[in-house]
Amino acid sequence: MHGPGDVRVEEREEPRIVEPTDAVIRVSAACVCGSDLWPYRGIGTEDSAWPAPMGHEYAGIVEEVGDEVETIKPGQFVIGSFWASDNTCEICRAGYQSACVDRVPMGALGAQADLLRVPLADGTLVATPDIPADDLVPSLVSASDVLGTGWFGAVAAEAGPGKTVAVVGDGAVGLLAVLAARELGAERIIAMSRHDSRQRLAREYGATDIVQERGDAGVAAIKELTNGLGAHSVVEAVGTQESMMQAIGATRPGGHVGFVGVAHDVAVPGMDLFWSLVHLHGGPAPVRRFLPELIDLIWNRQINPGKVFDLELPLEEAAAGYRAMDQREAIKVLLRP
Ligand SMILES: [Zn+2]
Repeated sequence: MHGPGDVRVEEREEPRIVEPTDAVIRVSAACVCGSDLWPYRGIGTEDSAWPAPMGHEYAGIVEEVGDEVETIKPGQFVIGSFWASDNTCEICRAGYQSACVDRVPMGALGAQADLLRVPLADGTLVATPDIPADDLVPSLVSASDVLGTGWFGAVAAEAGPGKTVAVVGDGAVGLLAVLAARELGAERIIAMSRHDSRQRLAREYGATDIVQERGDAGVAAIKELTNGLGAHSVVEAVGTQESMMQAIGATRPGGHVGFVGVAHDVAVPGMDLFWSLVHLHGGPAPVRRFLPELIDLIWNRQINPGKVFDLELPLEEAAAGYRAMDQREAIKVLLRP
């Protein structure tokens, strides 16, 4: 990205092994993330250095590994998260690899590329049982971020059997939080969306109810569906003031909010929080925690998260992919190098 709205595909220096714990992978699929749209729209870019490599979602085949890499081998098909992590520190072992003491942001390395250096390869990457069939690749790359993030949102909101789960946000993460809630056994899943095609996919992923209203009206609609109580679990997958307050307001006392939308200029008023009696848990998803389980579900074709990709483009046309997501003409864009 050469600046807001200016995405170009150009030659850069070829990634190579820098640290002995690195791997270099040949990217089979990458994608454009909702969070890539913030700099694209010029939000929070005051301190950005242009041009910046882009992309933090990736799956591909290992080309080369450093001398200290033990478990990851050339030729394996691998998926990693948007944070490289050692997976051995105390924070990682507690399941919070996105806050690993050694973490490295993959976005700074640029996964929207044909080759990618992955630091801390043993901790970061998870290999599939074999080279996947091509039709599994979109679902596998979704595990790198959107599926892993939606899953964490549902886990953080404590979605599970007997629970009513509401999901704020009908982007790829929100839709996959619906899928996660279903897989986690939720009894009732309320998707908040005003778009036909997104409502359809939400229903396919397990939504039992759709609420079109937003803000206070959205909160009132959720309460109406839950005997005036609110949902047990609410996933916030947008990251605006309105969506956060909608999530807190739609949660019953004692319930849980899992917030995974990147919060831009969100300020939660203390008194609203105080009286809500809800649990708040969220942040950048520790996707690495869930990767083995998600890869298993995809490999066995139990879930099809790749359906959130409604536009697939060759990497050379990345700029068109950004445009389509910015205009909301596409839910999620898959890029094939
Ligand atoms: Zn760690």
